[in-house]
Amino acid sequence: METTTVPETDVACLGCGYNVRGLADEATCPECGTSIGESIAMMERLLGDRASRNKLGRAITCLAISLGCTCFTWLVLWFTLTGNANIWPLIAGVVLTGNILWWVGSHGVWSGQTQTRISRVTGIAAGVNLVMVLSIIAFVVLNYFYEAGDDRLGVLVMICSQTGLVCRAIGTWLLVERFKSIATAMFRPKLGKYFSAVRRLAVVGLVGLIVALFGVLDFYYLLVLLLAAFPITAIATIMGLVGLILLRAQLKKNQAASR
Ligand SMILES: [Zn+2]
Repeated sequence: METTTVPETDVACLGCGYNVRGLADEATCPECGTSIGESIAMMERLLGDRASRNKLGRAITCLAISLGCTCFTWLVLWFTLTGNANIWPLIAGVVLTGNILWWVGSHGVWSGQTQTRISRVTGIAAGVNLVMVLSIIAFVVLNYFYEAGDDRLGVLVMICSQTGLVCRAIGTWLLVERFKSIATAMFRPKLGKYFSAVRRLAVVGLVGLIVALFGVLDFYYLLVLLLAAFPITAIATIMGLVGLILLRAQLKKNQAASR
């Protein structure tokens, strides 16, 4: 038989942020019906000891820098669309760094708890994305030395970049869901709602990217990518970056308070 636990400290409901202090873990939140046991478990995992808080902080920093790399790449591409070949090694370096940090951060955010299915999917998505980025760089470098000089390279790069983008979008969606829970557990329901908005944008972007996968077959599907999926994903990325900076600051604040 399981024993009943009643939280004696403030615990935020994962669903709505309501303080469920003093309610038994077997019960559900009176405001939204979320399991109180789940909220307590999340709180303990997230903010239990300093080591796991530090780990979480580092993972969030990795993901924030990764999003910064993405924004930087888009800005550079935007201003050099006319094609300055000298800039490509720099872009490749930034993209690679950003995606390695994305992979590291995607794993780190889930550390300190048992592997759930959702964390595994996030890890696999980040891994596939990284493999795709490495493949693109390898194809381009090989083409430079051997000058394949046909359309096959273009198709390969396109398939890899689209697959990578879709994996990254899936990862973003799941990670944002996680950030929403973290913000709520830290009694920042507004930040949680902000992440909900980012998640909605990320999902719309993801649908657009999947539709755009067919751009390999038909050019008009590519228009969907250019006109809808990219701008929406870009906005979600910038919003995600801002959210991560706010979340990092909140975590630091909590850490200072608990010392
Ligand atoms: Zn609730």
